[in-house]
Amino acid sequence: MSLRLFGCLCGQFHSDGVAMAMPGERVSVPIPFYVLEHPEGVALFDCGLPAAMVDPDESYRVALRKVGLDATLTPEETLTRNLERLDIDPARVRWAALSHLHFDHAGGLRELPNATVIVQRREWEAGFEPELSSRYGLRKRYFDLGHPVTLVEGEHDLFGDGSAVLVPSHGHTPGHQSLRVRSDRGDHILAGDACYHCGVVETRQFPQMSDHAAMNRSLDALLALRGPDTVMVWGHDPDQWGERPVLPNARD
Ligand SMILES: [Zn+2]
Repeated sequence: MSLRLFGCLCGQFHSDGVAMAMPGERVSVPIPFYVLEHPEGVALFDCGLPAAMVDPDESYRVALRKVGLDATLTPEETLTRNLERLDIDPARVRWAALSHLHFDHAGGLRELPNATVIVQRREWEAGFEPELSSRYGLRKRYFDLGHPVTLVEGEHDLFGDGSAVLVPSHGHTPGHQSLRVRSDRGDHILAGDACYHCGVVETRQFPQMSDHAAMNRSLDALLALRGPDTVMVWGHDPDQWGERPVLPNARD
């Protein structure tokens, strides 16, 4: 198998339980991103928080705290440190496919000088449309950094060999997408925020700002893509990143 898949954690998101569809007044959830090492080059799916968020006074963190949210990141958890532990120079990353343009998925872009961003056209356009970008919380300062951008509409085969295929899963944001991966680790569907965690498959408790009808359709479509051995990897599921993480973050 020519594709290797890793899962790395880049900080945590903190909110009330309701916002994450979880029990408990306050919850903390992991912020994963994924590394795909292919003979054609290294691609990421999502890229975590911006390294600047190591600083509690980073301006968006200050703004988040005013509405009862926060994101925390240690110097060891930045995108760059995660890649270095895999012996990957961030300058070597050729593609950054983003599930969507939220700060906890696009934030690490600033650390990728040579990456082409791959995003659904409707997501990118929403990011520049005042009403949609404000409703969905898409902040240009975290994604509009001058990278070359490939806009895709519908499915997109990342390496051209079927090993990693982006599939639209709109609803969380206008152009959200997920990634189906066939790698040395077996078959995975990286759902992104089409589904925050396993429990949402049953409860369908989606974030307030999202398009719930679209999220229902998207989640059904993702579940229908599963084969008998496919592992679903959810957007922010604490149970998938505990002692036995769903994907390795290091070479064995
Ligand atoms: Zn997220």
